[in-house]
Amino acid sequence: MTAMSGPVQAEDVAQDSPDQGLGVDVWTGRVTDVGGIPVHRALPRRGRRMVGAWCFLDRFGPVGVLPDRTMTVGPHPHIGLHTVTWLLDGEVEHSDSFGNRQMIRRGELNLMTAGNGIAHAEDARAQRGGSLNGVQLWVAQPEATRHGPSAFAHHAELPDVELGSGRATVLLGQLGGLRSPVSVDSPLVGVDITAAGAVEIPVETTFEHGVAVLSGELTVAGTAVDTNQFVYLGTDRASINIDFGPGARVLLLGGEPFESEVLMWWNFVARDRAELERARDDWTSNSGRFGHVDSTLATIAAPRPYWLA
Ligand code: MN
Repeated sequence: MTAMSGPVQAEDVAQDSPDQGLGVDVWTGRVTDVGGIPVHRALPRRGRRMVGAWCFLDRFGPVGVLPDRTMTVGPHPHIGLHTVTWLLDGEVEHSDSFGNRQMIRRGELNLMTAGNGIAHAEDARAQRGGSLNGVQLWVAQPEATRHGPSAFAHHAELPDVELGSGRATVLLGQLGGLRSPVSVDSPLVGVDITAAGAVEIPVETTFEHGVAVLSGELTVAGTAVDTNQFVYLGTDRASINIDFGPGARVLLLGGEPFESEVLMWWNFVARDRAELERARDDWTSNSGRFGHVDSTLATIAAPRPYWLA
């Protein structure tokens, strides 16, 4: 397996263009490769890097798993973010530099907090056949916690909410009075929703929202969208209407507009290039900042930042 040069590459974020005005903005996730599996990357995107503190969204699969075709992401570092891994199908083993080793399966969520630095590996080789299908999201940490300690939590049970003809799993935040046990450092919501037909989803008016289409065809706030498209909805909505076609499923994301701009490069979320370069140097020199991951996968080397000659 070749080492990936991502996840966040220059083409994700190098150029900026203004958002397309108020209202609804729709785009299709950019296809890339992570650890041997094709993914659709909906965030970051030129002109729309974040929805609340959500700053990265990779949709991987569904893909049939074979011995030589599965997800293997060797040890690599993170700073300044939480990773949220949510599996729709399959099994992936997480191992990190604090000695955590955890298999995650369908319907389960892993939350890893990077703070000042952590390293981890993701390995799906234990899964023999079947389908691998899921999302990995990043949540930017605010200034108050982003230099702080690292942590890891596995959640096998998340609240389920009935939503008219539908059903929702609350990954983060709250919906319909039920609150997820998964906690992050800024006001946020993340909900996996399926339904037959139209549902009206109550949301926080102070949050901006986005809808990632995991499967099927549906209409979000009157706009027709398809699998792997993403809809940005802005703030000031009391509810969001989604009309689900057969087999349609979405991830609703929201949060208060983030406190600041962030700078993302490779596996790092920071505020300026000097921080990114320092993190890259600390990883490359094996300074001890990120610790050691016990994994049989090859460690991933950091690329050279594109802004350095
Ligand atoms: Mn990672």
